[in-house]
Amino acid sequence: MRAQIHLGRILGIRIGLHYSWIIIAILIVFSLSQQFGVVHRNWNPTVVWGTAIFTALIFFICILLHELGHSIVAQSRGIRVPSIVLFALGGVSQMERDSPDARTEFWMALAGPLVSFILGSHPSQPFCGREKNKTSLLKRYTRTYCGTSKIFSTVK
Ligand SMILES: [Zn+2]
Repeated sequence: MRAQIHLGRILGIRIGLHYSWIIIAILIVFSLSQQFGVVHRNWNPTVVWGTAIFTALIFFICILLHELGHSIVAQSRGIRVPSIVLFALGGVSQMERDSPDARTEFWMALAGPLVSFILGSHPSQPFCGREKNKTSLLKRYTRTYCGTSKIFSTVK
């Protein structure tokens, strides 16, 4: 899968978006804005849409971090990862070759879900962690969507 929109590089890995990502991003933002508008009737439209866009961005950052987990382990085992592409169904790390052995494959496969698990459950994460006291709705929504991305990415 080739990226049509290039966002930059992280650790030498090109990060890109496939056009299908735009469709799912719009659907997620609209869906969140509808939900926020219903649940928080006192929010003005700017806050509703801003929170929806921010939450969607965090969701996609969680997917990107998941893919970086796979990629960093691959690169540490000598497998070059030229790019990561985010698309409608999640993300994909494009590796130059298959893993040479089962052990490498195991750790590469485990790294992504492990990153997602940490994002969804680690208490020190600013946006994806457990809130210590029932404070910010934004934190709760963000955690929900990071958790969703964890499941979503694991299915891939
Ligand atoms: Zn994965």
